[in-house]
Amino acid sequence: MPTPDNASFGSNSVSRPSTKIVATIGPASEDRIVQLIEAGLAVARINFSHGVEEDHRRRVEKVRTAARFTGVPIGILADIQGPKMRLGKLAAGERRLERGQEVRLFEGSQSDDPDRLPFNFPGFRGALKPGDRVLLADGAVELVTQALEGEDVRASVRRPGPISDRKGVHLPDSYLSQELPTPQDRKHIELAQDLGVDFLGISFVSRAEDLERIRDLAPKMILVAKIERRTALDNLKGILEATDGIMVARGDLGVETALEALPLVQKSLITEALKSGKFVITATEMLESMVHASRPTRAEVTDVANAVLDGSDAVMLSAETAVGEYPVEAVEAMGRIAKAVETSQRYHDLPRAGFRQNEPTFSNATALAAAQAAEALAIHKIICFTESGNTVRLLSRYRVNAEIIAMTPNERTLQAMTILSHVRPILCERETSLEDMLHEAQNLLVERRICLHGEEVIFVAGVPPGVSRSTNVMKLHRIGEPTRMH
Ligand code: PGA
Ligand code: MN
Repeated sequence: MPTPDNASFGSNSVSRPSTKIVATIGPASEDRIVQLIEAGLAVARINFSHGVEEDHRRRVEKVRTAARFTGVPIGILADIQGPKMRLGKLAAGERRLERGQEVRLFEGSQSDDPDRLPFNFPGFRGALKPGDRVLLADGAVELVTQALEGEDVRASVRRPGPISDRKGVHLPDSYLSQELPTPQDRKHIELAQDLGVDFLGISFVSRAEDLERIRDLAPKMILVAKIERRTALDNLKGILEATDGIMVARGDLGVETALEALPLVQKSLITEALKSGKFVITATEMLESMVHASRPTRAEVTDVANAVLDGSDAVMLSAETAVGEYPVEAVEAMGRIAKAVETSQRYHDLPRAGFRQNEPTFSNATALAAAQAAEALAIHKIICFTESGNTVRLLSRYRVNAEIIAMTPNERTLQAMTILSHVRPILCERETSLEDMLHEAQNLLVERRICLHGEEVIFVAGVPPGVSRSTNVMKLHRIGEPTRMH
């Protein structure tokens, strides 16, 4: 790989979408990360459900190298599997279940009877009652519980289809209490911390306490609660309070709820996240056909556009970039779709998030003032100095037609802001006075050609500098003019 050069790419001409692109790094993409970044990647996802520790370590290292090389800060999201329920090893390997056929489920890892299906989940038997559905192979096959008989659960096939070893199982009608984190999750959380990744994606969250337990284990990580269980929808309020962000995990969520419920569930999850001041990623099958095709379908293009219009901070690629044939093209396509929406009037006419009543702070009021000034004066750059990232997070949710240039001396904060819509994180020196801060920022932004001479911008800062949650200044400024305040 050529020598790192962080002077150019991250700072200039290539316009990156305001909506962030998350792409899963896998065998198809781990050696093309620079290209993914050039195509618009903002956050790299490492799915801990696949591969071994060595794979995760190597991929994290490769993302860091590519980020240094391009000069673009790239967030890293480690996604842990959670209590995913699966079939064990079947007696017949792959087979088809026919309508009306009776099968038995039992707790175990393998079976030598083709009509007895092993299921990896301790205690599932006590959670099922006659009439409850059991979905196999991510919903492809539906069983209905008939009776509990000894160690077995007898069920009949309502929707026929193929099953095979280790396929996913869902119990949409039962509130099976599932211990999160699982022992495997604990190991993965430790590994994620050891690798210093920024975000932790947590699968199959049911309630706030799940997140609190994980917060205790990983106090420094940014938590992304994956909303993919029906119970999580019932407990959304508490989950939003306990988490930093959510993922609309449409894959498993589409099994737990009716498929046709997904579009409206997606919209309300995004709205609720924005109201709570939490970021939101929309995920799964967004450009699925691009696993094998170099162009997306019309329906996929429309889906990505709608996720942007709904207000997602980020849109995510899974198999498309992890194992697909066109990983770079998929990121490019997503970027183009996002930008087409973001430059439309419709996007800017959408109702904005309001002032967060439960956050009556100087930071929040300053953020709102800056957002309103940007709209009123048609200013397209808000330069926000931040220690914790809090003010930037508040500003981001207004989704104004302006780029939020988020300047921080804190590396963790820099990385944390990579997921936020409209935000371009930039690392800067720590200054001791407001005037030095503005002066140095102006020089840096002009030098890197992010701002042009004479351009009107808005500065948002805190006095005294260097103190977390102290934002209290908004300054309207013309680039090139003195930054003195008196
Ligand atoms: P997964 O999560 O890809 O880890 O299953 C996303 C989803 O379920 O949509
Ligand atoms: Mn999932």
